[in-house]
Amino acid sequence: MVDELLDRLGVTRAAFSSGAHPVHTPIDGSRIAAVALDDAAAVSAKIGRAHEAFKVWRAVPAPRRGELVRLFGEVLRRNKSALGELVSWEAGKIAQEGLGEVQEMIDICDFAVGLSRQLYGLTIVSERPGHHMRETWSPLGVVGVISAFNFPVAVWAWNTALALVTGNAVIWKPSEKTPLTALASQALLEQAMREFGDAPQFLSQVSVGDRAAGQAMVDDPRVALISATGSTRMGREVGPRVAARFGRSILELGGNNAMILAPSADLDMAVRAILFSAVGTAGQRCTTLRRLIAHESVKEEILARLQAAYSRIRIGHPLEGNLVGPLIDQSSYEAMQKALSLARAQGGKVSGGERCLQEKYPDAYYVAPAIVDMATQTEVVQHETFAPILYVMPYREIDEAIRLNNEVPQGLSSCIFTTDVREAELFQSAVGSDCGIANVNIGTSGAEIGGAFGGEKETGGGRESGSDAWKGYMRRQTNTINYSRELPLAQGISFD
Ligand code: NAD
Repeated sequence: MVDELLDRLGVTRAAFSSGAHPVHTPIDGSRIAAVALDDAAAVSAKIGRAHEAFKVWRAVPAPRRGELVRLFGEVLRRNKSALGELVSWEAGKIAQEGLGEVQEMIDICDFAVGLSRQLYGLTIVSERPGHHMRETWSPLGVVGVISAFNFPVAVWAWNTALALVTGNAVIWKPSEKTPLTALASQALLEQAMREFGDAPQFLSQVSVGDRAAGQAMVDDPRVALISATGSTRMGREVGPRVAARFGRSILELGGNNAMILAPSADLDMAVRAILFSAVGTAGQRCTTLRRLIAHESVKEEILARLQAAYSRIRIGHPLEGNLVGPLIDQSSYEAMQKALSLARAQGGKVSGGERCLQEKYPDAYYVAPAIVDMATQTEVVQHETFAPILYVMPYREIDEAIRLNNEVPQGLSSCIFTTDVREAELFQSAVGSDCGIANVNIGTSGAEIGGAFGGEKETGGGRESGSDAWKGYMRRQTNTINYSRELPLAQGISFD
């Protein structure tokens, strides 16, 4: 099945069957492929080739570069179902979410095509007569993308669509847990490059590898920008190393996202939003809802409603109409169990969380999503456990709820469910949520590509995707032009 999908997507048999690194599907734990891993020397050679491609591509007019991304969007449309299904096989996402991820790739292509005619700079008035100033934006260089297993294709597409229209070359190190979707995405981009005609070879490359391959990219001064998505642990290693060589980085790291449930909230809507945000992708989204801060007047009711809704969730094979698929692997399951026992020790009342379908899938890790009733925001609640655990805590005053929302080291996504306009505005104000994303009457996950995506504090501070995130992929230049016959100096300085 997976072989057939890879064939259809244009990946050569040699690329996925002849390496030493086994790839397992989280669906049943079976081995589905074997790929070769790049060592540091192979990564270095690819960076060299990417640099040559960059020198050609930067001189191609941006709207023409946009044409390549337009063609890529078309290729993705034609291959949406095959690539979406491959995402399910490799990352364990349910069919709808696999397809949604490919749609996100298509959406960012469309966004980037429009952008390719809108790389605007400012014009600035000068203090000197006969002068004017402007800002111009130029391509940056080689962009190194390091991605996580849980968004195995969309995150690369966010970066690549923007990097290509802004005139850069890309080298991608996907998660070692999801190399197949990376090989397939690259094959689809190469198809678009053939249709395009004269894009330089090696404009986009994949380097399948582990942490060592990632570090080779991180340390190489020929890589102008490292865009790294993954755990805060990874960001702590990558950020300082890129900074040490004065490189640029976009860090998209862990989240610990909360919803404030106010007394006036529409509880029917809130239950649906909580289910999608807390349980979707088996709790393995950076924006997964992990903390529910419920007003004491609604806490018991929401707990009862959630427990009823959780008992009806269909858990199982992600391509067979279920809502919750497997965790990525055993270590993820163990991390979940460890967090739950810590939560119990810290006073939490746990429901759910147990392993399911063990007899049917002895080598895969399906779990019942857990709800933990917590009196306070204890130590375990402040950590991101990448699994479906929802901590539910009470609050009395809105200021206390906002304080709890902010009192964790991460700062990615947050939301409030309220019909009180004062609370909604307060939550999004300067004294409100300190996160990169703050929603009203929408859950914490499921962002659109039009807005800038990213978070504060230990989430890393990077922004990707929409709005003006493209500026992160370009070099800004300030130009002062003198069209007079004099040479006045700024600040009125006389130097005669
Ligand atoms: P991970 O940190 O284990 O790995 C992510 C990537 O980093 C992989 O490609 C890995 O090989 C690479 N890597 C790890 N250490 C490295 C190093 N020292 N140098 C260079 N590369 C290194 O993360 P994961 O388990 O794949 O993904 C889950 C995590 O990613 C969660 O914490 C989640 O919140 C986060 N995430 C964040 C976002 C976001 O946009 N903020 C999006 C998706 C996932």
